[in-house]
Amino acid sequence: MKHLKTTKKILLSLSLILLLAIGCSKDTVRNPGPDPDPGSGTDSGSNNIPELDITSKATLTVSKDNPDGPNGVEGSTKLVDGDTTTKFLIKDFTTANIDFKFDSAKLVASYQFTTGNDFDGRDPLDWKFYGSNDGKSWTLLDTRMGMQFRHRRTNYRFYFKNDKYYTYYRWQVVKLYQADMFQASEFRLFQMPPGKQKLAPIYWVDSTEKDGLKLIFVNHSEKENLAYQSVLTHTFFTVYPELLKEYNPEAVKRVYFIIDPTYDGVAYSFGDVLVFSYDYMEGHPKEGDVAVHEIMHKVQNGYKGSVPSWLIEGMADYVRYRYGIDNPDSWALPDYSSSQNYDDSYRVTARFLVWIENHKEKNFVKLLDTALRKGTDYKDFWIQTLGKSIDDIWTAYGESPAL
Ligand SMILES: [Zn+2]
Repeated sequence: MKHLKTTKKILLSLSLILLLAIGCSKDTVRNPGPDPDPGSGTDSGSNNIPELDITSKATLTVSKDNPDGPNGVEGSTKLVDGDTTTKFLIKDFTTANIDFKFDSAKLVASYQFTTGNDFDGRDPLDWKFYGSNDGKSWTLLDTRMGMQFRHRRTNYRFYFKNDKYYTYYRWQVVKLYQADMFQASEFRLFQMPPGKQKLAPIYWVDSTEKDGLKLIFVNHSEKENLAYQSVLTHTFFTVYPELLKEYNPEAVKRVYFIIDPTYDGVAYSFGDVLVFSYDYMEGHPKEGDVAVHEIMHKVQNGYKGSVPSWLIEGMADYVRYRYGIDNPDSWALPDYSSSQNYDDSYRVTARFLVWIENHKEKNFVKLLDTALRKGTDYKDFWIQTLGKSIDDIWTAYGESPAL
């Protein structure tokens, strides 16, 4: 977890919620400052309290429990049992309120989430954290969006500033990465004296809305202004509407772009999220078309049956070739060579698809996308559409591979 020396640049505040609610076309969230809600707690003598895990002093209630109940093998009591090898799991997740009630008001300004043992699609992506003194009227204390957890059964600690004592605290999990199940090994609350409170980890969120699409740009790096943020944003709002129109109008309209300094690849697509490597984008700040390949994977959601990954990746690179807007010299389709095969994936497959469209069927990929969404086997599709097997078409391509 990374901390900045300065704490004045944290994001995320009530203003984000407000700005989103009124539908601003562009919301940049910076530096919330102190909570504007005066609350009803007291703060006398608060500097004398120690920093302390006070979870065991609270009574836990959850808005939805495991089907086997709170004491089941994956029931809610496992969330606070101090054992990171057990976990709490909710099925058919929509949202969840995880509430802690204390006998007397506490000054909580930190919490710790521990990831589950397995599938990271069950990790929380967005959440809010509240305080209350009556369990009815809640004050927002912290908001997180587009969070990243690369390790299993690992503690992730979060800090915010709070000068009000509350008897109730609520962790409200709003959105998961991908799954319909939520899981967490532990969730713990920390009492924090004001002198030790901080805002961490620092991150920045910009939300942009246009033409019915919303892009939530989350920057987890320590650098506030990223040269490629505007490039990626422009690429998204230029190319994605075309892909929706051309291929799949039902694809997701609200997408996260996450800049992640802990990811050492280039980019990947997961649920509603696209993750970009911070290091890669720092080295290639003009390469907005990385996003074109990845957002095609959102369009491809809903394919039925077993579609091979080489075909999915080849189609995504085909789309980057056809719809990309920056076309850097570093990215081009490779020349044909006899050592290639159509299932080599990515650009090799992409070039084959381009060749088919130039010489055989000009709407081939659009038709292929529709067929895969209906569950048609890709080999059958080749025969139905071109009258020959994919192997025969590949042979013809090899005999005359010029585009
Ligand atoms: Zn891909």
